[in-house]
Amino acid sequence: MVKRDYYEILGVTRRATYAEITRAYKKLARKYHPELNPGDEKARRKFEEIAEAYDVLSDPKKRALYDRYGLRRDEMSEEGEKRTAADIIFEGFDFSAEESFSDFLEELFASSAGKRVKAPQRGEDLEVPVALSFEHALRGTTVTVTVTRRQTCPRCEGRGEVEGPQGTCFRCGGTGRRPTLRGPLRLSVRCEHCEGTGRSAPICPLCHGETRLPIEESLEVKIPAGVDTGSRIRVEGKGDAGLYGGPPGDLYVVTNVQAHPFFVRKGDNIYCAIPITITEAVLGAKIEVPTLWGKATLRIPPGTQSGQIFRVREQGAPSLRGDVRGDQYVEVRVVIPRLIDQRSRELMREFERLNPENPRAELMQVAGLLADAPSEAEASH
Ligand SMILES: [Zn+2]
Ligand SMILES: [Zn+2]
Repeated sequence: MVKRDYYEILGVTRRATYAEITRAYKKLARKYHPELNPGDEKARRKFEEIAEAYDVLSDPKKRALYDRYGLRRDEMSEEGEKRTAADIIFEGFDFSAEESFSDFLEELFASSAGKRVKAPQRGEDLEVPVALSFEHALRGTTVTVTVTRRQTCPRCEGRGEVEGPQGTCFRCGGTGRRPTLRGPLRLSVRCEHCEGTGRSAPICPLCHGETRLPIEESLEVKIPAGVDTGSRIRVEGKGDAGLYGGPPGDLYVVTNVQAHPFFVRKGDNIYCAIPITITEAVLGAKIEVPTLWGKATLRIPPGTQSGQIFRVREQGAPSLRGDVRGDQYVEVRVVIPRLIDQRSRELMREFERLNPENPRAELMQVAGLLADAPSEAEASH
């Protein structure tokens, strides 16, 4: 994705004042605002671009950083193929992700301006896959999952250091700054452990300054009835421990449900195919069909065609959204008998004499539009 220059987007010079930038923004925003251009995808994207450019250029701190690192097309063309640091910054950023360039500048600025870096941070969420049988997914079950999660170090209680005389900070080696990677970009930020002083108490001998330790834990997780492949069951607080007193993340159990040899599930509905005899199809019948929950009686009306689908209400999968079930759809397939005895064949011929209808008669009329020239083509075996 080629990122356009923010100045270019707003149509202002690099020396533009705050007032000029705001004026340019307001003019463009009035033109491209989504409410004034309903359904116009191009205008919406344009508006987002304008808003992002304004967000950065209207803030003196962000603008200064942008001017230092941002992509400048005029310079690029002079340098030809040479890749500038700014170029690399833009390539490293996925602007389609939730994180915008503006957020990134914010963070960069916070760390270089010396704001508090030991702010509480929520722990990471974790995911663990679990395989379930078709039946267990429908009826609900309890599974035991083993998860490796990071827990606050019990020795230093998450500080990374223990009581003792102050010495060189073990995190930054006494420089007060630490390199950090943002995409392909190497930045130096204030050391979060010593907060830039370069000095700290001795390192914790248990976690070696990591503040958290991985532990393996077995958990019983209740799987509700009706889960499907890809369902996520949240186990609160069983993700990684937070940092600097932040709350822990959550654990998500992600289900993978095995296929069933007979039933096929789509959402809360269940599909299956049931064979019926030719006489059941012709004369009608009441047949028993298997369901997830036992069996149901299905009435086949006289004259049923092969492939017709019948609905059996509320015999499908339980819904995760409430105390209801989906439906079961039964496709009937007429089984054509192989007649081996003479008597049955005679009866079929007798039947044909009594019912001399040609099911293809209408088809010939509809399909024969180009059959003006008599054709002698005949099907051969
Ligand atoms: Zn520790
Ligand atoms: Zn340090």
